[in-house]
Order: sequence, then structure tokens, then C-alpha cells
Amino acid sequence: GEGVTVGEFAEALGVPSSDVIKRLFMLGQAFTVTQTMPEEMVELIADDMGRKVRIVSPEEEYAIVYNDSEEDLKPRPPVVTVMGHVDHGKTSLLDAIRSSGVALSEAGGITQHIGASVVNVQGRQVTFIDTPGHEAFTAMRARGAEVTDVVVLVVAADDGVMPQTVEAINHAEAAGVPIVVAVNKIDKPGANPDRVRQELVEYGVIPEEWGGSNMFVNVSAKKKEGIDDLLETILLQADVLELKANPDAIASGFVIEANLDRGRGPVATVLVQRGTLKPGDVVVAGQSYGRVRALVDPRGNHTKAAKPSDPVEILGLGSVPTAGDEFRVFEEERDARKLAEERQMRARLKEQEARGHVSLDDLFSRI
Ligand code: GDP
Ligand code: MG
Repeated sequence: GEGVTVGEFAEALGVPSSDVIKRLFMLGQAFTVTQTMPEEMVELIADDMGRKVRIVSPEEEYAIVYNDSEEDLKPRPPVVTVMGHVDHGKTSLLDAIRSSGVALSEAGGITQHIGASVVNVQGRQVTFIDTPGHEAFTAMRARGAEVTDVVVLVVAADDGVMPQTVEAINHAEAAGVPIVVAVNKIDKPGANPDRVRQELVEYGVIPEEWGGSNMFVNVSAKKKEGIDDLLETILLQADVLELKANPDAIASGFVIEANLDRGRGPVATVLVQRGTLKPGDVVVAGQSYGRVRALVDPRGNHTKAAKPSDPVEILGLGSVPTAGDEFRVFEEERDARKLAEERQMRARLKEQEARGHVSLDDLFSRI
């Protein structure tokens, strides 16, 4: 196969390429960023950095995955995204879920502070990513990342399968994420929940009661009917997946959304996927980096720790990252800066190259 270059390998690991070059050099191998790494070096160095490499396609593409041992993995809450055709009731359903979650939760007080919310269902956490029409989800999927564990597909019972319904199914399938169907608006006079089921069969979304693998729940977001049922179904689906992560690893995850706040500076809402993020941690998110000044949970409270599947706001980044960017904690601020600057430079070069000014390969071979 083609193999990976030093630059691609470093990018996949989320480390500066100089770090990889240094490690290669210590093994007696001189490499530049654009050179392809020998397979055994890929494995050796990934292992050295606590990561594992596997070949994921017939074209022998490499995937670099974390190397957590089974006993390090602990159960984590499910991350859920609501999708569906416009006006089928995504926002209403999320609102109903939130208020239901508040009712179930002792702590209560779920706000819409950040682009994600945490709902307490029977004492268990469910993280909802508020992505109705949100770009983040697309951006993340485009990177082949699995940011969500379960897709709740909302289909209005009076309207049936529409173009964006199909699009959502395709997205979920491409990401390998199971679909729970919420057949909404069952309170409406023209509602026909069974027709929705029939229509979805054509797209491979088949109810369990018909021998398929998809769970369906009839709901009315407006009347708040079937919401508890839906939440229980989401938990059932999540249980099948046996979701786990290592909470003690170096924290990493994805940027859900980010903006420049007048008072607080760059603010990034991230989803922690692995490890535990804490104030004082040095973070790289895409092309930006910084030391975490404060973490703000979905309730708007400062928190001392964000664990796997927790959404949290990061304050303290030097610039605004992009939704879909990966974030990762670094032990050395120096390394964080190096990686962020490397990415900034690459982005600038790519931009220039796109305008026909310079060849990326030319430049990188000189670094
Ligand atoms: P979204 O575009 O998918 O986020 O849809 P919205 O949540 O904004 O809902 C679109 C419209 O459908 C709004 O006027 C809602 O009040 C209405 N709606 C949502 N859920 C229900 C429901 O369960 N029953 C009825 N009758 N109307 C609903
Ligand atoms: Mg909406």
C-alpha cells in the first residue's frame, strides 16, 4: 500500500512532526516530513506513544487508535444526536427531553448554555449534542469521526420520510451509528405512525417488531408524550453498545462549537471522548492552543473535571478553533505550541498553494 508520511502520522497522533522525526532519529533513521515511514517504524513509534496502528482498508490505509488495555476502560454515558427533516420537531423534542430530564434529575437546571446538554435519565447521564442544522456534526463526520453513539431520527407522522430524513439515514450509516426512530407529532389528526415505519423500510431502517434492528418510539414533542419511553429506548440502545473509555488517559475529544466571547475570549465547547480534562491542562484544539483557565459545564457552573462523554466549555485558548477539530491535552506547553504553530503554517501554506503560489511538498522537504 501507500503507507503514511511522517507528517500524516504526526497529524493522526496529534503530535508535532518534529517529535516523530526526533523519535525516528533516535532509532537511527533520518526522515523528513513528506517521506513515507516504513511499516515497522509506524508500529514501533505509535506503540512508544501509547497508540496502536491497524490497517483499515484494502488499500492498506493506517488508522492510529488508542492503546487502552481492557481494565483501563470504564463505562461512559452515551452521546446522542437528534437529526431529521426540517420542521419535523427536532428542537421541540430536545426541549421536551430537557424538561423531562430536569423533572427526573435531582440536580435539575439544565440550561442551553452550550451546544450540548446533559440529561439525567433514571440516575444515568445521557449527553445530547444540539446539532439540529448544526455544522459541527457534518464537519466531524467528514473527518470520519464518531462523535455520536446514537442518532435519534425524528420523523413527523403527518409528513413521513422526506429528503433530509434520507440524508440523516445516510449520515448515520456512513458513521456506523445506530438509529433510534422517534415518530413525532402523533397528536396530529393526519398522523400515521405505521406509514412512517413502512416508508423507512425502503431505506433499510426496519422496526424490531418487524424483524429489523431499529427501535421505534411514537412521541409527541408538543404534548410531551412518549418522552420517557424514548429516553429509556436510548438507554437500551446504548447498553447494547457497551460504551467505554479510559478516564485516566490524557484527555482528548472534539470541538462541538467555538466562538469569540466579548468578555471571556475564545470559548470552545468540546466533547471529551477519552481521559479527564481539568483546569490548568495545556490543550491543542485544531490550530489553537492554550492553558485551560476554566471549565464550564452545561449548567453554567465551573467544574474541576470533565470526563468521557461530558460536554464542557474551555476558557483559555489563544484563538478560536473550528467545530469538528480534535482537541488533545499535552504535558508540555512547548509541544502544544509547536503542534498548533505547525498546523497554522500548514493551513497558510495550503491556502497559498491553492492560490498557486507555492508547492507544499517543496516547502516541507526543507523543514
Ligand atoms: P425542527 O425544525 O425539526 O427543529 O422542528 P421544530 O421543533 O421547530 O418544530 C416545527 C413545528 O412543528 C413547530 O411549529 C412545532 O411546534 C411543531 N411540532 C413539533 N413537535 C410537534 C408535535 O409533537 N405535535 C405537533 N402538533 N406539533 C409539533
Ligand atoms: Mg430546529
